[in-house]
Amino acid sequence: MIRISHAWKFFGELTALNDVSLDVMPGEKVVICGPSGSGKSTLLRSINRLETVDKGSIIVDGQDVNSPDNDINKIRQELGMVFQSFNLFPHKTVLQNLTMAPMRLRKIPRAEAENRALELLKKVGISDKANVFPAMLSGGQQQRVAIARAPAMNPKIMLFDEPTSALDPEMIGEVLDVMVTLAREGMTMVCVTHEMGFAREVADRIIFMDHGQVLEENAPQEFFGAPKHPRLQKFLNQIL
Ligand code: ADP
Ligand code: MG
Repeated sequence: MIRISHAWKFFGELTALNDVSLDVMPGEKVVICGPSGSGKSTLLRSINRLETVDKGSIIVDGQDVNSPDNDINKIRQELGMVFQSFNLFPHKTVLQNLTMAPMRLRKIPRAEAENRALELLKKVGISDKANVFPAMLSGGQQQRVAIARAPAMNPKIMLFDEPTSALDPEMIGEVLDVMVTLAREGMTMVCVTHEMGFAREVADRIIFMDHGQVLEENAPQEFFGAPKHPRLQKFLNQIL
């Protein structure tokens, strides 16, 4: 579903991605962790070309995201992205936040888009909030709307960039529950997160990055049970 081959990204003198290669299979759940500044967001953002890699290639569902022959907007429709900040449209209701893109970009009729949106809101446990504005919701509720908005477009892949790190501790669980539900439904997911309980429960593979490099990549059991790289050992000691 995603094939990243020898990706490099430079910001001036700084090497944000240092020869990163990563394959994600259909339905696979990959968790990416690593210290702040290690290149996790840059990697995720390169997948939908919010950043452009300087060297190497990124193929999403058979399409090179950096090829001028491919329509990046078409590719982006297949990629649902959830950020740390919820990025909801403040002047639109919760329901409108979920129906706008499917109606405009997928040309889905209003009634159908609204039905689907209500279904998704029910799934994330906030169907009673369909007609309120985002400012009326708690952070956890806003993030659940943001998460429900992505599958409203029927993407093939969902990318999460630290979706719980801006939330109050008591709201983290409800957002992770929604992500677990999506994972169970077979969605292909790439999640940058430090929620190691989530990683243990849903990840097929966990990737550890530091200084723009992938230093370790393993199934949860080995990743946590027998970390090999000293920097990963240190990282796990700090966060667990
Ligand atoms: P992470 O998500 O792991 O915290 P990032 O991918 O955001 O790390 O950043 C990796 C490195 O690249 C950091 O040193 C960061 O300061 C730098 N960086 C990220 N985006 C930019 C940018 N637009 N301009 C300059 N430097 C950047
Ligand atoms: Mg980041």
